[in-house]
Amino acid sequence: MTDTNKTHYRACHLCEAICGLEIKTRGSEITSIKGDKLDPVSQGFICPKATAIADIHTDPDRLRMPHKRVGDAWVEISWQEAIQLTAEKLAATQQQHGNDSVGFFAGNPGVHNYGNLTHGPALRRIIKTRNNYSATSLDQLPHQLTAWAMYGHQFALPIPDVDQTDMMVIMGGNPIASNGSIMTIPNAPKRLKAIRERGGQVIVIDPRRTETADAASQHLFIKPGTDAYVLLAMINTLFNEGWVQDSHLHDHTKGLQTVKASVADFSLQLAESKSGITANEIKQLTQQLATTERAVLYGRMGVSVQEFGALCQWAIQVINLLIGATDTVGGALLTSPAFAYVTKGTPGAGHFARFHSRVSQLPEFSGELPAVALAEEILTPGDGQIKAMVTIAGNPIISSANAGLMDRAFASLDFYVAIDFYINATTRHADIILPPTSPLEHDHYDIVFLRLAVRNSARMNPAIFDPASDALHDWQIFNALSNAIAQLKGGDFNELPAPDLLVGMGIEHDVYGAQKNPEMALNLDKLKAEPHGIDLGPLTPSMVDRIGTDDGYIDAAPEFIIQDIARLLQKPAPASEHDLLLIGRRHIRSNNSWMHNYHRLVKGKPRWQLMMHPQDLAERGLADQASVTIKSRVGEVTTTVIATDEVMRGVVSLPHGWGHNKNGVKMRIATEQKGVNCNELTDEKFIDQLCGNAALNGVPVTVVAA
Ligand code: SF4
Repeated sequence: MTDTNKTHYRACHLCEAICGLEIKTRGSEITSIKGDKLDPVSQGFICPKATAIADIHTDPDRLRMPHKRVGDAWVEISWQEAIQLTAEKLAATQQQHGNDSVGFFAGNPGVHNYGNLTHGPALRRIIKTRNNYSATSLDQLPHQLTAWAMYGHQFALPIPDVDQTDMMVIMGGNPIASNGSIMTIPNAPKRLKAIRERGGQVIVIDPRRTETADAASQHLFIKPGTDAYVLLAMINTLFNEGWVQDSHLHDHTKGLQTVKASVADFSLQLAESKSGITANEIKQLTQQLATTERAVLYGRMGVSVQEFGALCQWAIQVINLLIGATDTVGGALLTSPAFAYVTKGTPGAGHFARFHSRVSQLPEFSGELPAVALAEEILTPGDGQIKAMVTIAGNPIISSANAGLMDRAFASLDFYVAIDFYINATTRHADIILPPTSPLEHDHYDIVFLRLAVRNSARMNPAIFDPASDALHDWQIFNALSNAIAQLKGGDFNELPAPDLLVGMGIEHDVYGAQKNPEMALNLDKLKAEPHGIDLGPLTPSMVDRIGTDDGYIDAAPEFIIQDIARLLQKPAPASEHDLLLIGRRHIRSNNSWMHNYHRLVKGKPRWQLMMHPQDLAERGLADQASVTIKSRVGEVTTTVIATDEVMRGVVSLPHGWGHNKNGVKMRIATEQKGVNCNELTDEKFIDQLCGNAALNGVPVTVVAA
């Protein structure tokens, strides 16, 4: 690299919004990071996290070479030794204890690096274990399960058409802090404001008056974990009041009469008694959704990560179908990405409950078992016990339910290899760490989030810096490991070409490629020639041709989901010794457990204080800013409390992703910034029983003076 000034354009890979960045460099130095005004979707917007891309790149704590544990110390070793050692350990473990004795956990940073997605599956095919886990089942599993069951593909996820809607109801989501999730919406504040400026409404339903609620037309508090009662009452009301709207999809949908019969017991009064939202408010909301021509209902983390998350996400899809929002401009539409366009026959459609976890009999989804089962699969002796782990950009000791149990599980492993570039709370237990190149050292095409965006676009960005001559990209690590393990197992492995070639081939054969769209004839070269990306236009109706179910109908009433309604009806009244319900929260300067080692993102007031309603505090003889201990069935943490009516009575809120104060973590995080981990309180037994997704919201807790 010479010392000349250069300007580069690329997508920010730090969160789902994938904003376009303009990055200026001088030699190996990053001199500025700004929003790319010519990005077709983000149009110059960035959030405060974007500048941390420079911190990741320059961080002296980021590992550049493989490391091996020797006692309590870490020793740098060569790639050849690291790959060979890892392959031998994994192959020997499987030879001695069977294929399922090796487990995988993939964290969500992996979906922001396309080499993980193009090359990671090959390693899994070589390892052939049933013990696959990921952050999916701590997060959006209900979305994917519902899409698979209703539309025939787990990634057939209708995205709110935010730029063209006149009414958006948001349940359990805070896009102004997150800039969207399962809805890539860079500059959420401006886009949501625009709905109101064109005379529309944004209504937020949440146990906390979030940043999004503050900017909304209306906010309704809801008791955590009761969303399903409200949603099923809304469906019942749509039928009872004759508010079901015409839709071009109804001729392509089966099961609506089953839905009607199944929700008959869910009255507005029942919903009011459970949720705290009045029957009148729920009825009015339902009517507004049904009678506003361009309206959409959207639900996210607060709705997914709870005891009835899958039922909630199904109900949201059904409501959008009944009000005519699905596949309608201004409603919820499938995206048309340049790569991995979802239609009937697209690989990876998904499957459910083909096998179950060994200890708790939790169902797989698309080959993955629920993350809440991981610790017990490591700790419980017997055939199929996990003895060795591979983690890929994951930190389950911070991000999974019952962090204490997960910590004990990882400490007990015979062998653990982490593909990661930090020694964090989880990877500190590793025997070998294999660090991939930094994000700015490899090219990038966002396979996942271009699929979930509120506007269609495509962008392929080259690397900004050359990697060191002895560095490996993630996809090269996967190739090398797959090859070494295959050889030890006596098989062959054909190394896959670089990810840009794989994506390029996909684009050429997909909807904008020469065969299907001769006029556009999109290919890798054309994409590379457009550093700001290519605008592929607004979302448009396309569902009818893309339904992927076996019989070609949208299934409004998948049997296993309908059966789950009985579980809700029979749910016993809470008999917990704990009298408060814990929910998480998101902050714009934070993304899960990432980047808490970058001073510019964590400076200022601590953000892991417990929010509690002033009357709840007073009843317990506690004062604002007091030190309090929060206790649940599985653990306790101590932090300070903030008195605020931002949370409703009976609810306390603690953000997730903090608690880096573990011996052996080798990231420079100031002691006062390590925070407390809310997952010391969340419970691996408190789950959505239908699919095993973690219920990280609505956890029963008690708060006492510390
Ligand atoms: S919103 Fe997300 S993608 Fe956009 S700049 Fe911030 S971290 Fe990057």
